[in-house]
Amino acid sequence: SKLEAVIAGMQEGVIALDPAGRILHLNGAARSLFGVSEDPAGLLLWEAIRLPGLEEAARAALRGGGPASASFETGDRVLSAHLAPVSGGQGAVLVARDVTEDRRYDTLRREFVANVSHELRTPLSVIQGYVETLLDGAWKDEKSALEFLSTIDRNVRRLAAIVGDLLDLSRLESGGRLVEPRDLDVHALLDRVADAFRPVAGKKNQALEVDVARGADSIEADGALLERAVSNLVDNALKYTPDGGKVKLRTEPAAGGIAILVEDNGPGIPEADLPRIFERFYRVDKSRSRDLGGTGLGLAIVKHIAQLHGGTISVRSAPGQGSIFTLRIPRPGGSK
Ligand code: ADP
Repeated sequence: SKLEAVIAGMQEGVIALDPAGRILHLNGAARSLFGVSEDPAGLLLWEAIRLPGLEEAARAALRGGGPASASFETGDRVLSAHLAPVSGGQGAVLVARDVTEDRRYDTLRREFVANVSHELRTPLSVIQGYVETLLDGAWKDEKSALEFLSTIDRNVRRLAAIVGDLLDLSRLESGGRLVEPRDLDVHALLDRVADAFRPVAGKKNQALEVDVARGADSIEADGALLERAVSNLVDNALKYTPDGGKVKLRTEPAAGGIAILVEDNGPGIPEADLPRIFERFYRVDKSRSRDLGGTGLGLAIVKHIAQLHGGTISVRSAPGQGSIFTLRIPRPGGSK
């Protein structure tokens, strides 16, 4: 009965079969994984659970052909099952688990690698092309040589920006860059960010304002990370807002913490794109982002920094109406 209690409590689905393939025992996890509602005792495994390939795998194990693994799709779930014969031809045991999340993670990882390769290949092939042209003799013509070199320079910078952002993301994700919370003067932080971007704003004749509300001027957070997050938001706001536009950095008390808002009166973002802009490499307008030196990773970094602080990032925007990005950072112990 001890053994039964252990098997009943397992997360894996366990099914014991007699030599003919009849179900002797199945635990609760197996019931829910395979959606078995009635009592299947005495039924053949493949009668109780109708999944393509299951009978074949079970028969092979029952013949004593050694352990076998198989995976099955049921509705929107993917199950992985391991079937092993019990010594002396006494039947077989099936152990199954839900691998839907693992599969999803694998797919995401593959997509990410494909995206990264694509992003790096574009500037690399530009560089390659121009270097070849220079080597083929274009260097002799000073005017075009300078033009080609500046294109190469721009693309080298783009490569460096992508690699830099990727490294930052991976540090944030692996926890290599731990949050070091300190009491922060939010007003000073926002002023620092605004000052750093004044030359950029000046070039486009854009107004850049800071407005810090009472009761929302301090927070416990990692200063360097928070500054990075706000900088990414301000960088975007100035980048996508046309000349003469306005960007405002403000704070508000929020339930259990503060909210830092970055508002612009730029082009806004279509509703269909809003849920995806925090994904890595997602851009509303690819060529526009690239022309402006974007890596497509800025908002993914902001999202990670918010999450490391137990906070959130959200956006309100509509085409032609500007955008408001809101970074919420909770106070430790503050109610959310
Ligand atoms: P990028 O390097 O392309 O700016 P981000 O991750 O920072 O990458 O942003 C993703 C996309 O979200 C951008 O390419 C742009 O289409 C959109 N976006 C971000 N901020 C703004 C904004 N303030 N106004 C309009 N569109 C924005």
